Amino acid sequence: LVRLRARLSRSQNSLGKGLLTLLSREHLDEETWEEVEDTLLTADVGVGPTQELVERLRERVKVLGTRSPEELRGLLREELLTLVGPDMDRTVHTEAQGADDRPGVVLVVGVNGTGKTTTTGKLARVLVADGKSVVLGAADTFRAAAADQLETWGTRVGARTVRGPEAGDPASVAFDAVKQGTEASADVVLIDTAGRLHTKTGLMDELGKVKRVVEKQGPVDEVLLVLDATTGQNGLVQARVFAEVVDITGIVLTKLDGTAKGGIVVSVQRELGVPVKLVGLGEGADDLAPFEPEAFVDALVE
Ligand code: GDP
Repeated sequence: LVRLRARLSRSQNSLGKGLLTLLSREHLDEETWEEVEDTLLTADVGVGPTQELVERLRERVKVLGTRSPEELRGLLREELLTLVGPDMDRTVHTEAQGADDRPGVVLVVGVNGTGKTTTTGKLARVLVADGKSVVLGAADTFRAAAADQLETWGTRVGARTVRGPEAGDPASVAFDAVKQGTEASADVVLIDTAGRLHTKTGLMDELGKVKRVVEKQGPVDEVLLVLDATTGQNGLVQARVFAEVVDITGIVLTKLDGTAKGGIVVSVQRELGVPVKLVGLGEGADDLAPFEPEAFVDALVE
């Protein structure tokens, strides 16, 4: 957690700093509030949440007599935390719900390049370190190197990879992965899917089918949507498309190490009504962390 805070603060605290500087001005005129708004919008907080926050800040700053930096920081921390949703359930469900004779099944979905395969590998590593046996399903049969990349992760972390023929049917690979995972009494099956977004119907057909086929053996316990934090509003558009195809249960925001636009956490949660559960903070095996609203906001305003 300490590490997460340090890593986040390096890239994120320009937002908090900017806001604190603005709110510390002697005269908080309309122009200043517009700048506050711009700062939030630039950080991808989104229009609705930005307006709410500015309204709340205006109210609260008004009743504040003096504005000491500590008071402002405390106030901003409280309001940002409310916006991030401190009480959302961010549990990643890797256990089979209501059954102990089958592995938990996690589908990892998202557009190519967002960090899906890397996230699947990192998550496998966390689970294996936790004493779980993990089977990986390489259902991204579209991108030739994807299965190799996943298998490399599997070898590295100690998880078996189930793969099919190149350009084969993703749903059949996903089905096999769950089947083999069940036969081997594995604890968790993680399925890396293809993220071809060329047409929505194509995606619907493919991803929808993967889910339906997997569900023949039991329910899917978690559907993680991987989003690249650096893509801003484009990421939100993608998120919407995926949410129409499958029921997303959690968001993984990758590449937070490479952007100061942490506000995407707020806008994507608002857009999908689903919590950010994990964040990617680098390319390395240990660079996946649970999303902790308090640590995130602390990093913003420290
Ligand atoms: P996929 O096509 O969605 O499976 O994407 P990949 O897993 O192949 O990742 C695409 C690129 O993003 C790779 O170079 C990864 O190393 C990189 N990447 C993934 N997650 C992160 C992250 O959290 N931070 C950074 N900086 N890079 C990441």
